[in-house]
Amino acid sequence: MAKIKGHITIKTENCKGCDLCVEECPQDSLELSSSLNSAGYPYAVLIQDNCTGCTNCALVCPEAIITVFREGKKKPIAVISNVTENMTVEVNQ
Ligand code: SF4
Ligand code: SF4
Repeated sequence: MAKIKGHITIKTENCKGCDLCVEECPQDSLELSSSLNSAGYPYAVLIQDNCTGCTNCALVCPEAIITVFREGKKKPIAVISNVTENMTVEVNQ
């Protein structure tokens, strides 16, 4: 079976550099930047074009700033929002 191709977007300005997404990515697609965002944190960046859209990174991100897409799907696969009040997790298959 062909491997699923995915992509993510990260709101890097809101990243706290906690490294959780980097640790949980099974593809080793993520790394923390060597530069800092305006809040003074290193931020997560996609370093390889091998994301499968597995959603791990979005699900572990405490800041809910990662959105996951899969090729061929119009809607994002995973959008996590409103973590400070009632956490909303939207996972579309
Ligand atoms: S969706 Fe999965 S494969 Fe893609 S960057 Fe996130 S953890 Fe890695
Ligand atoms: S899990 Fe979220 S806050 Fe932590 S490094 Fe990744 S993107 Fe940044």
